[in-house]
Amino acid sequence: MSLYQEALDLFDLTVDFRRDFHRHPELGFNEVRTSRIVADELSRLGYEVQTGLAKTGVVGLIQGEQPGPVALLRFDMDALPVQEDTGAEYASETPGLMHACGHDGHVAIGLTVANLLMRHREAIKGTVKLVFQPAEEGMGGAAKMIEAGILKDPAPDFALGVHVWNERPVGWVCAVPGPVMAGAEIFKIKITGRGGHGAVPHQAVDPVAASAQIITALQTIVSRNVSPLQSGVVSITQIHGGETFNVIPQAVEMAGTIRTFEPEVRKLVLERFNQVVQGVAEAMGCQAEITMQDLTPATINDRWVTERMQERIRKDWPEAELVTQYQTMGSEDMSLILNAVPGCFLLVGSMNAERNLNYAHHHPRFDFDEQVLPHAAALLASAVLEGLGEGQKKK
Ligand SMILES: [Zn+2]
Ligand SMILES: [Zn+2]
Repeated sequence: MSLYQEALDLFDLTVDFRRDFHRHPELGFNEVRTSRIVADELSRLGYEVQTGLAKTGVVGLIQGEQPGPVALLRFDMDALPVQEDTGAEYASETPGLMHACGHDGHVAIGLTVANLLMRHREAIKGTVKLVFQPAEEGMGGAAKMIEAGILKDPAPDFALGVHVWNERPVGWVCAVPGPVMAGAEIFKIKITGRGGHGAVPHQAVDPVAASAQIITALQTIVSRNVSPLQSGVVSITQIHGGETFNVIPQAVEMAGTIRTFEPEVRKLVLERFNQVVQGVAEAMGCQAEITMQDLTPATINDRWVTERMQERIRKDWPEAELVTQYQTMGSEDMSLILNAVPGCFLLVGSMNAERNLNYAHHHPRFDFDEQVLPHAAALLASAVLEGLGEGQKKK
């Protein structure tokens, strides 16, 4: 029986887990209930379990009877502050919180992988570390899990992760060597001028007019500085200033995000960003204060591991549309693990337009086709059982 067949046998269990997590979403570092269920299930299956890493993180460890590499498989657990509007019978029971990114599915995939591996315990070569991570959604969960020691004792030789992907249908699977998801910065800008009467602008220094110039000038970074063959994003997503009609405010505050793939593009965009904001503000007689926060680096898949993963996909899931060139401007903190350990982050298509399961990630109506779950679990289990990391150190 193939691993996929075995995963299908577990389908009801997988879906029960997924829907239970979906009903009870928890925000980053507060995945108390989720992590308790994960730890209980891993213990029940016979894993050596560590809990309380980065508050709510859980690690399940299993040592195979045969020697081999150490594999790290990572699954994120957090939900989002979104009010669910799917009307699903398993919709969130917590007002204002929702699994709108599919991390409920990731936890269910992880527990299914745990189950599949235990059934084939005798075939495991080396050690498997199943990492259930809190707080992926821009809250630094991966960094905290690394601080808590997931990359030590034993140190992984390769790392795998997966994201359900609602931009493509079930049957689409993406294993891209090199950068697949963008690096992200978030920023705040405060433009300070001199407030005054709206009817006497010459006696004020207007930060509203300066901010308008800055926003326009920032658009030239991607269109005029980044090579047309490379990519980047500079988005201003918030702007606040002023209280009333006839007062020029003292200051305007803006916020936004920067996305890039290549380190040299990132450097260029950040340099130009500073020059443009400071230069335009100065020209308009204002002061600019920039706070830049490096959220996550780009998610870069290791070529060797990714090619091995592609071989597994071709063999185990021949009907799948395997995509080896694809990039998205979304970001992912799996990137921090992949910066330290060679690995592959898979995207698996999860959309089903006929069933209206085609809303974008983070949308209040986001939901995905659960048929993807056994496929994803079987692929990850297969990668481990077929010794994906073997021979890697010899390369
Ligand atoms: Zn998300
Ligand atoms: Zn996500």
